[in-house]
Amino acid sequence: MTAISPTELKLLITGGARGIGAAVARDLQARGAKVLITDVLDDEGAALAAELGPPARYRRLDVSRAQDWAAAVAEAEAEFGGLNALFNNAGIPHFGSVADCSPEDFRRVIDINLTGCFLGIRACAPAIAAAGGGVVINTSSTAGLQGYGGIAAYVASKWGLTGLTRAAALDLAPQRIRVLSLHPGPIRTPMVEGMPDGLAAAQPIPRFGTVDEVA
Ligand code: NAD
Repeated sequence: MTAISPTELKLLITGGARGIGAAVARDLQARGAKVLITDVLDDEGAALAAELGPPARYRRLDVSRAQDWAAAVAEAEAEFGGLNALFNNAGIPHFGSVADCSPEDFRRVIDINLTGCFLGIRACAPAIAAAGGGVVINTSSTAGLQGYGGIAAYVASKWGLTGLTRAAALDLAPQRIRVLSLHPGPIRTPMVEGMPDGLAAAQPIPRFGTVDEVA
Protein backbone atom coordinates (compact mmCIF):
# COMPACT_ATOMS: atom_id res chain seq x y z
CA MET A 1 0.00 0.00 0.00
CA THR A 2 1.29 3.48 -0.77
CA ALA A 3 2.23 5.75 2.13
CA ILE A 4 0.25 8.94 2.81
CA SER A 5 2.39 12.06 3.09
CA PRO A 6 1.59 14.46 5.99
CA THR A 7 0.19 17.05 3.59
CA GLU A 8 -2.36 14.50 2.33
CA LEU A 9 -3.51 13.47 5.80
CA LYS A 10 -7.14 14.10 6.73
CA LEU A 11 -7.01 12.84 10.28
CA LEU A 12 -9.41 12.35 13.17
CA ILE A 13 -7.70 12.17 16.58
CA THR A 14 -9.53 11.01 19.70
CA GLY A 15 -8.37 12.16 23.12
CA GLY A 16 -6.66 14.99 21.26
CA ALA A 17 -7.16 17.80 23.76
CA ARG A 18 -4.03 17.05 25.78
CA GLY A 19 -1.21 14.57 26.31
CA ILE A 20 -0.06 12.34 23.44
CA GLY A 21 -3.04 13.23 21.22
CA ALA A 22 -2.37 16.97 21.47
CA ALA A 23 1.33 16.45 20.73
CA VAL A 24 0.45 14.46 17.60
CA ALA A 25 -2.09 17.11 16.51
CA ARG A 26 0.53 19.87 16.89
CA ASP A 27 3.20 17.93 15.02
CA LEU A 28 1.04 16.80 12.12
CA GLN A 29 -0.65 20.15 11.55
CA ALA A 30 2.81 21.76 11.48
CA ARG A 31 3.67 19.30 8.70
CA GLY A 32 0.60 20.16 6.65
CA ALA A 33 -2.08 17.70 7.82
CA LYS A 34 -5.75 18.50 8.32
CA VAL A 35 -6.61 17.47 11.88
CA LEU A 36 -10.00 17.08 13.54
CA ILE A 37 -9.22 17.12 17.27
CA THR A 38 -11.84 15.35 19.36
CA ASP A 39 -12.20 14.78 23.10
CA VAL A 40 -14.61 15.19 26.00
CA LEU A 41 -12.49 18.05 27.42
CA ASP A 42 -14.16 20.80 25.41
CA ASP A 43 -12.29 23.80 26.83
CA GLU A 44 -8.86 22.24 26.30
CA GLY A 45 -9.79 20.91 22.85
CA ALA A 46 -11.19 24.22 21.64
CA ALA A 47 -8.14 26.07 23.01
CA LEU A 48 -5.80 23.75 21.15
CA ALA A 49 -7.71 24.15 17.86
CA ALA A 50 -7.62 27.95 18.33
CA GLU A 51 -3.87 27.81 19.03
CA LEU A 52 -3.22 25.76 15.88
CA GLY A 53 -5.65 27.72 13.70
CA PRO A 54 -7.42 26.41 10.58
CA PRO A 55 -7.66 23.82 9.16
CA ALA A 56 -7.48 22.31 12.69
CA ARG A 57 -10.91 21.97 14.27
CA TYR A 58 -12.25 20.71 17.58
CA ARG A 59 -15.37 18.60 18.05
CA ARG A 60 -16.72 16.85 21.13
CA LEU A 61 -16.58 13.07 20.67
CA ASP A 62 -17.13 10.65 23.53
CA VAL A 63 -15.59 7.52 22.02
CA SER A 64 -18.05 5.26 23.84
CA ARG A 65 -21.03 6.84 22.03
CA ALA A 66 -21.74 5.54 18.50
CA GLN A 67 -23.81 8.61 17.64
CA ASP A 68 -20.88 10.91 18.43
CA TRP A 69 -18.74 8.93 16.02
CA ALA A 70 -21.20 9.29 13.15
CA ALA A 71 -21.36 13.06 13.58
CA ALA A 72 -17.57 13.43 13.82
CA VAL A 73 -16.97 11.41 10.65
CA ALA A 74 -19.57 13.53 8.84
CA GLU A 75 -17.82 16.71 10.00
CA ALA A 76 -14.39 15.50 8.86
CA GLU A 77 -15.73 14.54 5.44
CA ALA A 78 -17.59 17.83 5.04
CA GLU A 79 -14.74 20.07 6.22
CA PHE A 80 -11.71 18.23 4.84
CA GLY A 81 -13.26 16.69 1.73
CA GLY A 82 -12.71 13.19 3.11
CA LEU A 83 -11.07 11.19 5.86
CA ASN A 84 -8.04 8.94 5.38
CA ALA A 85 -6.67 8.46 8.89
CA LEU A 86 -7.95 7.68 12.39
CA PHE A 87 -5.79 7.98 15.50
CA ASN A 88 -7.70 5.98 18.13
CA ASN A 89 -5.85 7.51 21.08
CA ALA A 90 -8.37 8.30 23.85
CA GLY A 91 -7.91 6.20 26.94
CA ILE A 92 -8.28 6.17 30.70
CA PRO A 93 -6.37 4.35 33.42
CA HIS A 94 -7.74 2.55 36.42
CA PHE A 95 -5.29 1.85 39.18
CA GLY A 96 -6.31 -1.28 41.07
CA SER A 97 -5.78 -5.03 41.19
CA VAL A 98 -8.49 -7.50 40.12
CA ALA A 99 -9.80 -7.45 43.72
CA ASP A 100 -9.72 -3.65 43.88
CA CYS A 101 -11.49 -3.04 40.56
CA SER A 102 -15.28 -2.92 40.75
CA PRO A 103 -17.27 -4.44 37.87
CA GLU A 104 -18.47 -0.92 37.05
CA ASP A 105 -14.92 0.43 36.82
CA PHE A 106 -13.85 -2.56 34.75
CA ARG A 107 -16.69 -2.03 32.28
CA ARG A 108 -15.97 1.72 32.06
CA VAL A 109 -12.32 1.12 31.15
CA ILE A 110 -13.26 -1.51 28.54
CA ASP A 111 -16.00 0.77 27.21
CA ILE A 112 -13.59 3.64 26.53
CA ASN A 113 -10.26 1.95 25.82
CA LEU A 114 -11.52 -1.00 23.77
CA THR A 115 -15.14 -0.58 22.67
CA GLY A 116 -14.40 3.06 21.88
CA CYS A 117 -11.72 1.98 19.39
CA PHE A 118 -14.03 -0.65 17.92
CA LEU A 119 -16.76 1.95 17.39
CA GLY A 120 -14.21 4.27 15.83
CA ILE A 121 -12.95 1.71 13.36
CA ARG A 122 -16.52 0.79 12.40
CA ALA A 123 -17.50 4.42 11.94
CA CYS A 124 -14.39 5.56 10.04
CA ALA A 125 -13.60 2.57 7.83
CA PRO A 126 -16.25 3.31 5.17
CA ALA A 127 -15.07 6.92 4.89
CA ILE A 128 -11.40 5.89 4.71
CA ALA A 129 -12.21 3.28 2.08
CA ALA A 130 -14.15 5.89 0.10
CA ALA A 131 -11.04 8.09 0.19
CA GLY A 132 -9.08 5.32 -1.52
CA GLY A 133 -7.64 3.81 1.64
CA GLY A 134 -5.60 5.01 4.58
CA VAL A 135 -4.61 4.09 8.08
CA VAL A 136 -5.99 3.45 11.57
CA ILE A 137 -3.56 3.74 14.48
CA ASN A 138 -4.68 2.47 17.89
CA THR A 139 -2.82 3.52 21.04
CA SER A 140 -2.34 0.34 22.99
CA SER A 141 0.55 0.20 25.51
CA THR A 142 3.33 -2.02 26.75
CA ALA A 143 0.43 -3.13 28.97
CA GLY A 144 -1.06 -4.61 25.79
CA LEU A 145 1.95 -6.89 25.36
CA GLN A 146 2.54 -8.25 28.87
CA GLY A 147 0.89 -8.39 32.30
CA TYR A 148 1.29 -5.66 34.93
CA GLY A 149 0.09 -5.89 38.52
CA GLY A 150 -2.24 -3.37 40.15
CA ILE A 151 -3.83 -2.12 36.93
CA ALA A 152 -5.98 -5.06 35.82
CA ALA A 153 -8.74 -3.37 33.80
CA TYR A 154 -6.26 -1.25 31.87
CA VAL A 155 -4.10 -4.27 31.00
CA ALA A 156 -7.19 -6.21 29.86
CA SER A 157 -8.36 -3.30 27.72
CA LYS A 158 -4.98 -2.84 26.04
CA TRP A 159 -4.53 -6.57 25.32
CA GLY A 160 -8.01 -6.49 23.82
CA LEU A 161 -6.98 -3.55 21.69
CA THR A 162 -3.89 -5.41 20.48
CA GLY A 163 -6.16 -8.25 19.36
CA LEU A 164 -8.72 -5.93 17.80
CA THR A 165 -5.92 -4.28 15.84
CA ARG A 166 -4.76 -7.57 14.39
CA ALA A 167 -8.28 -8.69 13.50
CA ALA A 168 -9.19 -5.35 11.94
CA ALA A 169 -5.92 -5.28 9.98
CA LEU A 170 -6.96 -8.51 8.25
CA ASP A 171 -10.57 -7.43 7.78
CA LEU A 172 -9.72 -4.04 6.30
CA ALA A 173 -6.67 -4.83 4.18
CA PRO A 174 -8.84 -5.49 1.10
CA GLN A 175 -10.11 -1.91 1.44
CA ARG A 176 -6.53 -0.59 1.48
CA ILE A 177 -6.78 0.37 5.17
CA ARG A 178 -3.74 -0.42 7.33
CA VAL A 179 -4.51 -0.96 11.03
CA LEU A 180 -1.60 -0.61 13.46
CA SER A 181 -1.14 -0.37 17.21
CA LEU A 182 1.35 1.73 19.18
CA HIS A 183 2.75 0.39 22.45
CA PRO A 184 4.27 3.25 24.45
CA GLY A 185 5.96 2.77 27.80
CA PRO A 186 5.37 5.34 30.56
CA ILE A 187 5.15 8.93 29.28
CA ARG A 188 4.66 11.87 31.65
CA THR A 189 1.14 13.06 30.74
CA PRO A 190 -1.89 13.94 32.91
CA MET A 191 -2.97 10.28 32.66
CA VAL A 192 -0.13 9.03 34.83
CA GLU A 193 -0.46 11.76 37.48
CA GLY A 194 -2.67 9.54 39.63
CA MET A 195 -0.38 6.54 39.41
CA PRO A 196 0.35 5.19 42.90
CA ASP A 197 3.95 5.58 44.08
CA GLY A 198 6.06 2.56 43.23
CA LEU A 199 3.58 1.02 40.78
CA ALA A 200 5.91 1.38 37.78
CA ALA A 201 8.97 0.18 39.69
CA ALA A 202 7.05 -2.88 40.94
CA GLN A 203 6.35 -4.20 37.43
CA PRO A 204 8.13 -7.17 35.90
CA ILE A 205 10.95 -6.34 33.50
CA PRO A 206 9.36 -6.08 30.04
CA ARG A 207 10.12 -8.82 27.58
CA PHE A 208 8.78 -7.66 24.26
CA GLY A 209 10.50 -10.23 22.07
CA THR A 210 11.68 -9.69 18.56
CA VAL A 211 9.69 -7.78 15.98
CA ASP A 212 8.73 -11.12 14.42
CA GLU A 213 7.39 -12.43 17.72
CA VAL A 214 5.12 -9.43 18.42
CA ALA A 215 4.11 -8.59 14.84
P1 NAD B 1 -4.19 11.93 28.75
O1 NAD B 1 -5.06 11.65 29.92
O2 NAD B 1 -3.36 13.14 28.74
O3 NAD B 1 -5.04 11.91 27.40
C1 NAD B 1 -6.14 11.05 27.23
C2 NAD B 1 -7.26 11.83 26.60
O4 NAD B 1 -8.36 10.94 26.40
C3 NAD B 1 -7.73 12.99 27.50
O5 NAD B 1 -7.72 14.18 26.80
C4 NAD B 1 -9.13 12.55 27.89
O6 NAD B 1 -10.03 13.60 28.10
C5 NAD B 1 -9.53 11.69 26.70
N1 NAD B 1 -10.67 10.84 27.00
C6 NAD B 1 -10.94 10.15 28.14
N2 NAD B 1 -12.13 9.55 28.07
C7 NAD B 1 -12.63 9.85 26.83
C8 NAD B 1 -13.82 9.51 26.16
N3 NAD B 1 -14.80 8.74 26.72
N4 NAD B 1 -14.01 9.99 24.91
C9 NAD B 1 -13.06 10.76 24.33
N5 NAD B 1 -11.93 11.14 24.91
C10 NAD B 1 -11.71 10.67 26.17
O7 NAD B 1 -3.26 10.63 28.59
P2 NAD B 1 -2.18 10.20 27.47
O8 NAD B 1 -1.04 9.66 28.21
O9 NAD B 1 -1.98 11.25 26.45
O10 NAD B 1 -2.95 8.94 26.86
C11 NAD B 1 -3.22 8.80 25.47
C12 NAD B 1 -3.26 7.32 25.15
O11 NAD B 1 -1.96 6.76 25.35
C13 NAD B 1 -4.21 6.51 26.04
O12 NAD B 1 -4.89 5.54 25.24
C14 NAD B 1 -3.27 5.81 27.01
O13 NAD B 1 -3.81 4.62 27.50
C15 NAD B 1 -2.07 5.58 26.11
N6 NAD B 1 -0.81 5.34 26.81
C16 NAD B 1 -0.31 6.27 27.64
C17 NAD B 1 0.89 6.01 28.30
C18 NAD B 1 1.48 7.00 29.27
O14 NAD B 1 2.38 6.61 30.03
N7 NAD B 1 1.07 8.27 29.27
C19 NAD B 1 1.57 4.81 28.08
C20 NAD B 1 1.02 3.88 27.19
C21 NAD B 1 -0.17 4.16 26.55
